[in-house]
Amino acid sequence: MLTAIAGINWGDEGKGRMVDLLSQDYGVIVRYQGGNNAGHTVINERGKFILNLLPSGILREDTVNVMGTGMVIDLAHLCGEIDELGRHGVSVTPEQLKISDRAVICFPYHGAQDVLEEERLGDKKFGSTRRGIAPVYADKYMKKAIRVGDLLCPDTWRERLTDILSWKNLTLAGGYGSGEVTADECLRWLETYGRRLAPFVCDTTHYLTDAVARGENILFEAQLGALRDIDFGIYPYTTSSQTLAAYAPTGAGIPAAKLDCTVGVMKAYSSCVGEGPFTVEMFGDEAARLREAGEEYGAATGRPRRVGAFDAVASRYGVTIQGADCLALTKLDVLSYLEKIPICTAYEIDGTRTTEFPVGQRLVRARPVYDYMDGFRTDISACRDIRDLPKEAVAYVRRLEEAVGCPIRYLSVGPARGDYIAIG
Ligand code: GDP
Repeated sequence: MLTAIAGINWGDEGKGRMVDLLSQDYGVIVRYQGGNNAGHTVINERGKFILNLLPSGILREDTVNVMGTGMVIDLAHLCGEIDELGRHGVSVTPEQLKISDRAVICFPYHGAQDVLEEERLGDKKFGSTRRGIAPVYADKYMKKAIRVGDLLCPDTWRERLTDILSWKNLTLAGGYGSGEVTADECLRWLETYGRRLAPFVCDTTHYLTDAVARGENILFEAQLGALRDIDFGIYPYTTSSQTLAAYAPTGAGIPAAKLDCTVGVMKAYSSCVGEGPFTVEMFGDEAARLREAGEEYGAATGRPRRVGAFDAVASRYGVTIQGADCLALTKLDVLSYLEKIPICTAYEIDGTRTTEFPVGQRLVRARPVYDYMDGFRTDISACRDIRDLPKEAVAYVRRLEEAVGCPIRYLSVGPARGDYIAIG
């Protein structure tokens, strides 16, 4: 069984929590895109963990976790995550963690370039996490990146770095006027972190191809959500990689594999980190209450997230482009304080009503049209069966299901592993 878990919205839907829950039936968990620019929060009996790079299956001893070909990896950050797990008594061995030799290394100079560019943009900044993700993906496509497999050939490091830095410094020093990056500082960084991670590096395409042939259950874990996809998201306020399930086999390193199932993770309301159009955005006290109730602060950066009502227009588009077969609806418990629950059912653009998710400037001009449902006004976090839920909560779930055209199979009513209701 090959299953992808992917975000339906702007990210932060609770994918890490769903991977942690569903991974019990899977032997192999693969991250297939992105870097340490977003975080998955997992809470289980071993503690609370924020994982930016490691697949969320790393918290289960009996799974193999793969960092796939489509990822960009900050080696220092990864070592930090491994150390943090170690402090909680979770050890990470090369048997449990395999890093694709084709994934790309994100160096400190990528982060520096990200900061320089955000500062140059001033008021027009993108709201980047400043962790170098856009610069490192750009370098990958310029064919000026160093890949993880190169960690296995230290004798080539100096020459590769010297060549690449003679080009990169044209931008950093020549363009932005910052100091030049030297090969020596990058070499020291590689010596510290690259040597430590080298034992985890392997041909994961080979490993995963064998795993598929053996009939292993493989779970593909996305970072961020459909609306952040570089091609299909709210460009240019997207991430720099493909967040869609369709990319999972390629980004994992087994492009010929066919997914059997895509589980879309969708949040019961909306949240969005960073800049860009966010049609359902709430402001003032209304936003503050929802942000507090949902603890909406970025897992990677601690930034307060923008919040809003459930957006049926954006979510139906997300379900469609993810090709979701079923959904996990998360954070339903958060809405228990509301008397009336708003749902954005359509957009109005230049006086015309639409339920199609628009592109570019039409999206910027879109205004939300709301409908309201009765709130459930009671704590539902202990409910474990749909029959335990108040009828207003069931009505809300059914309404969302209908609005996005996809069945909801899991209802998450709290952050811990067991806080959920399976439906059907
Ligand atoms: P991800 O990047 O999609 O994994 O999402 P994040 O980890 O950034 O955000 C999800 C946050 O919501 C985390 O702090 C989770 O612990 C928490 N969470 C997930 N599901 C639920 C839920 O059903 N209810 C509540 N109250 N919190 C949840």
